[in-house]
Amino acid sequence: MLADKDRIFTNLYGYQPWNLDAAILRGAWDNTKALLALGPDTIIDRIKASGLRGRGGAGFPTGMKWSFMPKNPTSERPSFLVINADESEPGSCKDREIIRHDPHLLLEGALVAGFAMRARAAYIYIRGEYIREAQTLFAAIEEAYAKGLLGKNACGSGYDFDVFCHRGAGAYICGEETAMIESLEGKKGQPRLKPPFPAGAGLYGCPTTVNNVESIAVAPTILRRSPEWFASFGNENNKGTKLFQISGHVEKPCVVEESMSIPFRELIEKHCGGIRGGWDNLVAVIPGGSSVPLVPAEQIMDCPMDFDGLRAVGSGLGTAAVIVMDKSTDIVQAISRISYFYKHESCGQCTPCREGTGWMWRVMERLRTGDADISEIDTLYNVTKQVEGHTICALGDAAAWPIQGLIKHFRPEIERRIVEKQGGGLAPMQEAAE
Ligand code: NAD
Ligand code: SF4
Repeated sequence: MLADKDRIFTNLYGYQPWNLDAAILRGAWDNTKALLALGPDTIIDRIKASGLRGRGGAGFPTGMKWSFMPKNPTSERPSFLVINADESEPGSCKDREIIRHDPHLLLEGALVAGFAMRARAAYIYIRGEYIREAQTLFAAIEEAYAKGLLGKNACGSGYDFDVFCHRGAGAYICGEETAMIESLEGKKGQPRLKPPFPAGAGLYGCPTTVNNVESIAVAPTILRRSPEWFASFGNENNKGTKLFQISGHVEKPCVVEESMSIPFRELIEKHCGGIRGGWDNLVAVIPGGSSVPLVPAEQIMDCPMDFDGLRAVGSGLGTAAVIVMDKSTDIVQAISRISYFYKHESCGQCTPCREGTGWMWRVMERLRTGDADISEIDTLYNVTKQVEGHTICALGDAAAWPIQGLIKHFRPEIERRIVEKQGGGLAPMQEAAE
C-alpha cells in the first residue's frame, strides 16, 4: 500500500481548506521559480524519465507529448496548453476531487508544464456540470494572480503566463481533445481528423498540447521529489502513483491515490472494505471507465491495475474508474445503459458512429428483454467490429468495446434471456431514462 508520505494528493478528501495559504502549507508553490530555473528542456527530460503516462485514459507518454511542441514559438503563432477538466467518462471523478480540494496543485502544474512547452497561456476546460468546482478554480486562479504566481513575471521567473478557465456546456464529446479545441474556439464541439495532432495545429491553428488534470497536477511534485522517486512505483511500463476511483458494489466506494499496478483484490480490500456480500458475490468489473470492456470476476482478482495488466485481460486502465458489479447487477441492462449513453453523446459527424450507436443500443435493448433472435448476438458483434476503428474519434470504439466484452464473457446470460422470453417471462422493452 502506498505510504502517506508518498502521496501527491494530500488533501484528496478536503480535510483541509483548498485555498492558497493551506496549499502552501502542504507544499504547493514552494520555490516554483527554482523549478522553472531548470529550463524547459530539463523539465521535459525529467518528466520523460519519470515514466508519467497521460492520466486522461489513453496513457500517451506525457514528456514525449510535451517534446512535440516547438522550441521557438513566435508571437504570431504562440503555443498553448489546454488542460482537459471535462471529466465526463462514466465512473470517472478524480479530476473533480483535485479541483475541489487542491486546485493550486493544478495551477502550479499548469505554469510548470506551460513553461516547459514555451506556451503563452493555459486554458482549463472544465465540464459544465462542475459548477462549484469551477467556482473554486476561478477563485484559486484569482489568488494565484494576486500573489504574482501567475500572469506577468510568474513567480518572479521573468516568464509571463496566463491561465484561463472555460466552462463547458454538458457535451461528453467536448472531452475529446480536438472537439475541446473547437469548443474553445467558439464552434460546435466536434472532433477533428488526426493527424494533424494538436501539437502541429491546435487551438486557433497554433501548436497546442492537451493534457488531463491529473497529468498536469502531478508534474511539480515529480520535479521536486525526483523522477526516480515517481518511477519507483508501479512497474517498467506503468510507473508512478495514480488516482483510482472505485464505485459500485464495494463496501466503501472511494477515490484513492495508490501505486500503479496494485493488484485489483488488494486495491479493493485495502481501500473499499471488500466486495459487498463478499468476494464470491463479485460478477464483473469495468476497470477503466465506461469505454473499456468489462472483465469477469475470475480474471480480474489478481490483475495488476495498470495499462499492460488490464490489456492482458482484454480491457484497459482508461481513467482508472473502477466500476464493481456484484450478482445483483443486471449485466445486460448495465451495458445497454452504457450503449444508450454513447448513442446520446455521439456528435453525429460520422456515419458508423451516428447510425451505429443508435442501432447497437436498440439491439442491446432487445437482448436485454429477450426480444431478439439468438442470431442477432453475432450480428451485433459483427457490427461493433465495423464501428470500431472506422470513426473520426474514439467514441465509436468506446461504444463498441463494452458490447464486445459483454458478448465475449456473458453470451450464455444473453441467450438465457432469449430462450426464457420465448417461453414467456421477462419485462417488456423500456426506453432508457434520459
Ligand atoms: P489517443 O490515443 O488518440 O491520443 C492520446 C494523446 O496522445 C492525445 O493527446 C494525442 O494528441 C496524442 N498523440 C497520440 N498519437 C500521437 C502522435 N503520433 N503524435 C502526437 N501526438 C499524439 O486517445 P484520445 O482519443 O485522446 O483518448 C482516448 C481515451 O480517452 C480513452 O482511452 C478513454 O479512456 C479516455 N476518455 C477519458 C474521458 C475522461 O473523462 N477523462 C472521457 C472519454 C474518454
Ligand atoms: Fe462524432 Fe462519433 Fe464520429 Fe466521434 S466517432 S466524430 S463522436 S460521430
